[in-house]
Amino acid sequence: MSFEELQREDKEYISNTYNRFAVDLARGEGATLWSEEGKKYVDFGSGIAVNTFGVNDEVWKKAVTDQLNKIQHASNLYYTRPQAHLAHLLCKKTGAKKVFFCNSGAEANECAIKAARKYSFDKYGEGRFRIVTLKNSFHGRTIATLSATGQDAMHKYFMPFLEGFSYADPTFEGVKKCCSEQTCAVMIEPIQGEGGVRPLDAEEVKKIESFCKKHDILLIVDEVQTGNGRTGKLYAYEHFGISPDIVTTAKGLGGGLPLGAAIFFEKCRDVFGAGDHGSTFGGNPVACAGAISILERLDEKLMLEVQGKSAYLFTHLGRIKNVLSVTGMGLMIGLETTKPSREIAEKCLERGLIVLTAKNKVRLLPPLNVKKDEIDFALQILNEVISE
Ligand SMILES: *Cc1c(COP(=O)(O)O)cnc(C)c1O
Repeated sequence: MSFEELQREDKEYISNTYNRFAVDLARGEGATLWSEEGKKYVDFGSGIAVNTFGVNDEVWKKAVTDQLNKIQHASNLYYTRPQAHLAHLLCKKTGAKKVFFCNSGAEANECAIKAARKYSFDKYGEGRFRIVTLKNSFHGRTIATLSATGQDAMHKYFMPFLEGFSYADPTFEGVKKCCSEQTCAVMIEPIQGEGGVRPLDAEEVKKIESFCKKHDILLIVDEVQTGNGRTGKLYAYEHFGISPDIVTTAKGLGGGLPLGAAIFFEKCRDVFGAGDHGSTFGGNPVACAGAISILERLDEKLMLEVQGKSAYLFTHLGRIKNVLSVTGMGLMIGLETTKPSREIAEKCLERGLIVLTAKNKVRLLPPLNVKKDEIDFALQILNEVISE
């Protein structure tokens, strides 16, 4: 089948929700990919921060295939080892107390929203159900997480949205203004990803944290994109010196298989009882076995490597003509340029470099094990395309 035939089939039978780039990725090695036709690409997208160690990663493949050769699914009616081990590992590495597993970022946030409301209901009774999120945030595509998303452009067609969300300016004063006696939680992305790779101000975040603690408002940190080593720390909240009550994550956690988690700290340890929440696929043993092989490698040494690659990229990206700003942390980088981001992404693709966009930014999310020569190739292409 030719690429044109594939495009026709896709257009005919796939719901029109995606504006795809013109490439059919077939195989690869780390951050280098090949299309079906054999064209080579350097991958600075990782399937949107999912392929933590790129593709064809031997350690992850072994963990996944070993588990596949045992049992691929059991349901949560029974115990499976990878799920309990992964939860234990996540708690050991973060100081958290319990984990709920699901399959995606939106589901992890759904779980956090339910947990926050339940926490408040148990302690204060009915009516304390409101959640403050930030303007320009992104929390997912389900009705509840779309309602949580602070972007007017996303609040169309699907009315009525879920009650109980307010959208604050990304400052302490902004958040405080949106809070009332009815507020049970504040939910933030440490770096707004889809919103344009915009890190929050560390001092403002510290003040938001103290305010939340004082009023027993839960602090939910959405680390669906920023988590799992992406920013040069295991979780990005560590950069801000805060202790969240719930951390949600997904994308890079499974290293390429669908896996999400709501990670509960002390206050939310026992928020759920049997039957309060659940998921058929959540914590699938194959996905969890893969995730263990990812998390085990996200140690101090690797985080320093990520920080080193990041510093190198920031230095060289900042020198490219027509680059207006470079934002982000670790290997989550946004580039504001004088040109439309989609146009840059298309031109990079033609020259063999895969990059993403986020609003007006070009967004770079290479695998954490991206190599020096791949980074230099990306810098060269970005320089050609942006400065021309
Ligand atoms: C991608 C993303 C989500 C949604 O994750 P899905 O797996 O697509 O449901 C939620 N929050 C943030 C911050 C994200 O980047």
